[in-house]
Amino acid sequence: MDNAAIKAKGEKYCMNVFNRLPLAMVRGEGAYVFDADGNKYLDFVAGIAVNALGHAHPAVAQAISEQAARLIHASNLYWLEPQVRLAELLVENSAFDKVFFGNSGAEANEGAVKLARRYAAYKEHPERKDIVSMKKSFHGRTLLTLTATGQDKMHQGFEPLAPGFKYAQYNNFASVQAAVDDNTCAILLEPIQGEGGVYPADPEFLRAVRRFCDERDILLIYDEVQTGMGRTGHLFAYQASGVAPDIITLAKALGGGLPLGAFMATDRVAAAFKPGDHGSTFGGNPVACAAGLAMLQEMLAQDIPGQAAATGAYIKERLQELTEKFPCLLEVRGSGLLLGLQLSVPGADIVRKCLERGLLINCTAGTVLRFIPPLNITRAEADEFLRILTEVLAEVCA
Ligand SMILES: *Cc1c(COP(=O)(O)O)cnc(C)c1O
Repeated sequence: MDNAAIKAKGEKYCMNVFNRLPLAMVRGEGAYVFDADGNKYLDFVAGIAVNALGHAHPAVAQAISEQAARLIHASNLYWLEPQVRLAELLVENSAFDKVFFGNSGAEANEGAVKLARRYAAYKEHPERKDIVSMKKSFHGRTLLTLTATGQDKMHQGFEPLAPGFKYAQYNNFASVQAAVDDNTCAILLEPIQGEGGVYPADPEFLRAVRRFCDERDILLIYDEVQTGMGRTGHLFAYQASGVAPDIITLAKALGGGLPLGAFMATDRVAAAFKPGDHGSTFGGNPVACAAGLAMLQEMLAQDIPGQAAATGAYIKERLQELTEKFPCLLEVRGSGLLLGLQLSVPGADIVRKCLERGLLINCTAGTVLRFIPPLNITRAEADEFLRILTEVLAEVCA
């Protein structure tokens, strides 16, 4: 089937919820992906920050096929070696002691909220049920995580929303203080807001929120679904500021491309959960965890976060130069290989023109170009990206 045939069938049989480009992706190799008509693209979307090691990484592909041939699923009624080995590697490389595996980012955030409410009750504050999340945040599409997402436009038409959420302005500590009351059990935020437009948290803001949480014994939850697993130049984004949360949520790159989410907590917090409090049929599935384990082993062995930091700094500097050249570029934000280019005009046209030249990029929040390539891209691939983007900008906003 070619692009047009796959698209036609999809329009007939799949629910119409995605703003899809008229392409069907059929194969990937490293930083490149190929559509059903045989066109080749440099992939600066990477499955929306999922394919951290690029497409068809041999270590990940081999781990998946070997585990699939051995045991695909057995359930969490039993211990599973890939799951406990991945848990060990995550704990030994982070500030946390215990892991729970689910299947997605939204599920990870739902679990984190459940743990925060249990923790409050365990600390004899059963009245504390509410979560304070940030404006412009993104936490997922289930009803609870949609509610946590501080964007009115995503809420519209899905009311009643989940109870127990309040919103504060990101990077505004006074606003967080004002939103917290005696019923608050946790503050939820992204260390860099991804979907909302690539807005990084101020280290000073994070320190103030951390201190405030400690004073009140309420929990700080970081949604690192997008920023985690090397994306920002550290294995976890919290490591840049040194301000660790009590609970961290992960997904996107965690499963090496397979659906895998997780939340991690310190023992002090994880102790609030007891058997029966949470669960998942597929969570921590052996194939997804084997893929995640292969991905993380490779990431640590090759210092992929360090590569992301170096390549990201190089690209950011070049983008900075472009902002001086093109008046439609206002600002470059982000770190590592989670970079945003703020435009003064809508970005859809630029995305389309890049696509025509064989470059995949993403536009978020309407006017922010988001660059989230594989973390192991070469300097030559970074230069190819910059060359195509510059050509398109010269056409669109000279
Ligand atoms: C993608 C994303 C989610 C949602 O993850 P799903 O796997 O789509 O449920 C949640 N939080 C952040 C920060 C994300 O980027």
